[in-house]
Amino acid sequence: MLISPPARHHGVLGLHFAFTDEQEDIRAAVREFCQKEFEPELARELDRREEFPWELYRRACKLGFIGIHFPEEYGGAGYGYVEAAIVAEEMCRADSTLGTALILSDIGCDVIMHFGTEEQKEHYLSLVAGGKGLSAIALTEPARGSHLSARLDTRAVREGDGWTINGVKTLITNAPIASFYITLCQTDVQVEPPYRGQTLFIVDAGTPGLEASQIRDKMGIRASPTGEVSYSDVHVSKEALVGQLNRGFYHALAFLDESRVEIAAQALGIAEGALDRALRYAREREAFGRKLIEIQAISHKLAEMATKIEATRLVVYKAAWLLDQGR
Ligand SMILES: Cc1cc2nc3c(=O)[nH]c(=O)nc-3n(C[C@H](O)[C@H](O)[C@H](O)COP(=O)(O)OP(=O)(O)OC[C@H]3O[C@@H](n4cnc5c(N)ncnc54)[C@H](O)[C@@H]3O)c2cc1C
Repeated sequence: MLISPPARHHGVLGLHFAFTDEQEDIRAAVREFCQKEFEPELARELDRREEFPWELYRRACKLGFIGIHFPEEYGGAGYGYVEAAIVAEEMCRADSTLGTALILSDIGCDVIMHFGTEEQKEHYLSLVAGGKGLSAIALTEPARGSHLSARLDTRAVREGDGWTINGVKTLITNAPIASFYITLCQTDVQVEPPYRGQTLFIVDAGTPGLEASQIRDKMGIRASPTGEVSYSDVHVSKEALVGQLNRGFYHALAFLDESRVEIAAQALGIAEGALDRALRYAREREAFGRKLIEIQAISHKLAEMATKIEATRLVVYKAAWLLDQGR
């Protein structure tokens, strides 16, 4: 019996290691934006002053780069996680501090996108993608970082028609300049295991009892602010609850699965940016009568960097692609 040869149609039977033309266009557009707007002097200045690049954020929103994976009806561009990874990679390759600040301007919004009500999506996703304000997601507490599944110190207690929140969160991206803080609270203090009693609430900036301050002197990426948020009898309405009561831990894990891919794309871009700069320097600089790149020990190092970056790239885009497949 003759076995007929497989069709050579890309993406149907075989592996297809290439971006679509549309994805390449997005990459080219982001690269052009960064070349034009990410001036080294501005990056150095904002990083030194630990200031968020507000103007660049608004321009990036106009071009559709922020919230590129939000549905169009909520101000997004309707793309997926592969396109979000392209934006993150290109921006962070151009500049680590400006790139990181911009790609994290919509941090945590995935929680609203997947589990929020229609009103929450319309209000908060459109706000961030429309260049009107930054989001923040507050999970980490001073007493626990990785150990979120423990009983949280931040508590939300039912009061009247809403909830009252008390507690402290730390290392929160976009604090103190975010427009709202998606906050993980312990809502059932008896339940075992404790993570079955956690709930997410949206707390708007300016709500009485909410205070946020910036953590200064970070080692790097200082244009992306990181801060502490405290809640002292902060009252929110029942409409502030995101997703299901006592399912906040699971919603937060879904967000972390997605954000880890974006953070990996950020690291990939920063590594590529470092290689670009090292290569440029090695080609320019002369020592001992020849260019650095002609010294074998140096070119070995650069080749090793390029190899590790390529391996990282494959893993990052595979993970983004899997997310887009719903896996
Ligand atoms: C720049 C920046 C921005 C951030 N932004 C946010 C944000 O927006 N929102 C937010 O909620 N949080 C944010 N974080 C907090 C971040 O998620 C935490 O730093 C992270 O969860 C780790 O917590 P930790 O720093 O307390 O480390 P720890 O939990 O104290 O861990 C310390 C070390 O122990 C290891 N470790 C911990 N538990 C185990 C274990 N069971 N087994 C083996 N090893 C273990 C860890 O891998 C790590 O190496 C941010 C942090 C930084 C640095």
